Amino acid sequence: MSDSVAVIWDDALLGYTMGGDHPMHPVRLDLTVRLADALGVLDRPRLQVLRPTPADKALLTLIHDPAYLDAVRRAPADPDGAGHGLGTADNPVFPGMYDAAALITGGSVLAAQQVHEGKAQHAINIAGGLHHAMRASASGFCVFNDAAVAIAWLLRQGYERIAYVDLDVHHGDGVQAAFYDDPRVLTVSIHQTPLTLFPGTGYPEETGDPDRALGSAVNLALPNGTDDSGWLRAFTAVVPSVVRAFQPQILITQCGCDAHHEDPLADLGLTVDGQRASYRAVHDLAHDVCDGKWIALGGGGYGLVRCVPRAWTHLIAEASGDRLRPDTEIPAGWRDDVRRRGLRARPPETMTEGGYVGFARWDPFTESRVDRAIARTRTASFPYFGLDPDDPRD
Ligand SMILES: [Zn+2]
Ligand SMILES: [Zn+2]
Repeated sequence: MSDSVAVIWDDALLGYTMGGDHPMHPVRLDLTVRLADALGVLDRPRLQVLRPTPADKALLTLIHDPAYLDAVRRAPADPDGAGHGLGTADNPVFPGMYDAAALITGGSVLAAQQVHEGKAQHAINIAGGLHHAMRASASGFCVFNDAAVAIAWLLRQGYERIAYVDLDVHHGDGVQAAFYDDPRVLTVSIHQTPLTLFPGTGYPEETGDPDRALGSAVNLALPNGTDDSGWLRAFTAVVPSVVRAFQPQILITQCGCDAHHEDPLADLGLTVDGQRASYRAVHDLAHDVCDGKWIALGGGGYGLVRCVPRAWTHLIAEASGDRLRPDTEIPAGWRDDVRRRGLRARPPETMTEGGYVGFARWDPFTESRVDRAIARTRTASFPYFGLDPDDPRD
C-alpha cells in the first residue's frame, strides 16, 4: 500500500456553475485550491494532483436512470426538465451541465480507483460530494450523485463492506436512498435536524430497509445551534462505534462544510477549528478500521471566502499527513485576490477562528439537547451492531 495522497483537480471542475447568485458558486473551489497552493499544501512530497476524466454512461447508470441522463443532456434546449427536478431555483439548468456533472463524478470514481488499486492511501475530490442527487432527479444543487456512483463502482470491484460517512449539515439523502436496501453499504449521516432543514429526511429511525438491510443506515440529527464541542461529542458518541462494528474495507466521507456558523443556508455553529477536528477524526477512523483506505469528497459549504477555502485546505493538509497549524497566517496575495474579485466577505487572516474543540464524552445521564439527539440515534441504531445504546464504552 502506497502512503501517497491523490488530490483530484482540474480547473475544468469550475464549469459546474449554477449562475451568479446561486449559493453553489465555483469560486469556493477556486479559492480553496489557490489557498492550499499558496500555503504549499499541494507541493508536499507525498501528494500528487490528478486530472479527472468525465464519467461515461456505463458509470453513471450504475446509479442513475438512463432517461434522466437524457433529460440532463437535453436540458439546455429543453429547460423545464420534465419532472426531473431540473430548471428550478435550486437546480437551474446551465450550459455544459451534463459534462460538468459527469466530470465531477469521474473525479470521485478516479479517487476511488486510486485507493482501490493502492496507488494512493487517501484520495480527495473537493468538487465531489453531491449527495442529494437521486436516481432520476436533480436535488439540492446536485445533478449526478458522484458519491453513490463511486460506491457502486467499488461494489463492482468486489467490496463487501463499504462505509460512507456524511459530515455535511444536510442529510445525505441521495446516497442513503441509493443503498438503503443494500447491506454491503453502511451510510452514516450527521446533520441538522430535518425538522428545520432541507431535505426534511434523516431521522434516527431511518435505519435501512426493514426486509433487506436493517442497520445499514445511521442518522444523527442535531439541534440548531450545535457548536464545535457539541458536534464533536455527538460524532464521537455514535460514528466510530458503528463504523468499527461494521468493519468496512474502505471508508468514503462527504466533508461538506456547511455546518459552519456563518453558513447562509443552515443553522449549526461550527468553526473552521471544529471542522479541522472533524477531518482529523475521520482520518484517524480510516487508519483505525480499514488500513487507511480513505476517499474524501467535498459537498456543501456556502461561506465562499471565510469557510470553504480554510476548511478544505485543512482537509487536504490533514490527509497529507502534515497538518497546518491553526495559527498559520494566510498569505496577503490570496487575500488580495479575494478583494480583486469583488467578493464582499472580509478575507480571513489566519487558518483559525479560535474555536474550542475540547468536549466531554457522552454518558446516558446527561441531558443537553445534543445528548438527547445522541441517545435517540444510539437507541435506534446501536442494537443492529450488537452495541448497547446506554453503555458509554460502546
Ligand atoms: Zn449541505
Ligand atoms: Zn493517513
